[in-house]
Amino acid sequence: MMRTQVGIIGAGPAGLMLSHLLALEGISSVVLEAHTRDYVEQRIRAGLMEHFSVELLRQCGVGARMDREGLVHHGIVLRFGGRSHRIPVTDLTGKSMMIYGQHEVVKDLIAARLAAGGQILFEAEAVGIDELHGERPRIRFRQDGREQQIECDIIAGCDGFHGICRPALPLGALTVYDKIYPFGWLGILADVAPSNDELVYANHERGYALLTMRSPSVSRLYLQCAPDEDADAWTDEAIWAELRTRLADDSGFVLQSGPIRQKGVTAMRSYVVEPLRHGRLFLLGDAAHIVPPTGAKGMNLAFADVVVLSRALIDWYRKRNGDGLDSYSATALRRVWKAERFSWWLTSLMHRFEHATPFERRMQAAELDYVTSSRAAMTTLAENYAGLPLG
Ligand SMILES: Cc1cc2nc3c(=O)[nH]c(=O)nc-3n(C[C@H](O)[C@H](O)[C@H](O)COP(=O)(O)OP(=O)(O)OC[C@H]3O[C@@H](n4cnc5c(N)ncnc54)[C@H](O)[C@@H]3O)c2cc1C
Repeated sequence: MMRTQVGIIGAGPAGLMLSHLLALEGISSVVLEAHTRDYVEQRIRAGLMEHFSVELLRQCGVGARMDREGLVHHGIVLRFGGRSHRIPVTDLTGKSMMIYGQHEVVKDLIAARLAAGGQILFEAEAVGIDELHGERPRIRFRQDGREQQIECDIIAGCDGFHGICRPALPLGALTVYDKIYPFGWLGILADVAPSNDELVYANHERGYALLTMRSPSVSRLYLQCAPDEDADAWTDEAIWAELRTRLADDSGFVLQSGPIRQKGVTAMRSYVVEPLRHGRLFLLGDAAHIVPPTGAKGMNLAFADVVVLSRALIDWYRKRNGDGLDSYSATALRRVWKAERFSWWLTSLMHRFEHATPFERRMQAAELDYVTSSRAAMTTLAENYAGLPLG
């Protein structure tokens, strides 16, 4: 049986960052990851980092490549009724954001852990967790066809939405809050320079569209679609034509097209479980909560959970003070719910709801007008977009 202080399930942003922050304080961990290193390093997902996440990467010594290759952003554009309205986030909040792909963050964290002699076991799938109420909880995992076990003090469930930790808990241990939206996003990754320096969020009568990017030569674009849309039913030409229609404005904006490297459909969901602790198991990131990607909060929330839990663990190991562990769930959830609210609100503001009444459509139009004409409303948007403080 292997032994470590903190057994971490999942080598996504949450698991890797937790392992890194604990190692900096001399706390040992083993990270189990079901997939290969190559798979997790190539998985294209989030791309927008809040001010807090950028600072976190810098402070813990893994921000150098981000600072060289990332794109600093100071605002976003809301486009509706054919007109563009810029929200100057930095002017309103003093904070900026960074475009830097989640897979790049994952690469940087894996490199840092391995260089420091950290243990990440790839192709090691956790299959069960035991003794959560004892002092020596255990993770059972399968690697190379063999079942093995790790004994630890604490288990960190960083295994994403489809992991095993949350479902392993007894019925009734968690309260689930769930909302499924009646649409999805058809997303593409294209080898073409972004057609705008900042993100463009478009509310169009045919549905929402988003222009974002991953680098100076790679664009990421999304179209609101049916939740069960077949991505393969869309030709590349049809995708570009639809994007062009929805992203058009009266200033002569031109959308540049290029080869589509990847396309897929993402379902839209808001989901939270409470509490985030069960005995010696702690849930972090997507294992505990999901937001629709409109607010670009998922990876940032995962990092916020990690910071709260790592501080609690440091206190527990250093001072034998368990207060932080006891309050982890309540502390993390305060930020989670505010990010859930913002993501739900921005989703409601920007999408076309097929069954909305004429009155509801007028309300959405009035809110768009308000949010782009009132400094107070713009500041509220900007403050949430750049990221709220921890706690
Ligand atoms: C299309 C899209 C766009 C997004 N855009 C943004 C954005 O702009 N900004 C933002 O902040 N967020 C965004 N997100 C959300 C963001 O990607 C997630 O919130 C983030 O990945 C959460 O990190 P995590 O570490 O909690 O979980 P994950 O990244 O899901 O990592 C969990 C890991 O656990 C592993 N695992 C699962 N089960 C097991 C098991 N049994 N044993 C071992 N390992 C296991 C998985 O293989 C995975 O590597 C986006 C998501 C999508 C899908």
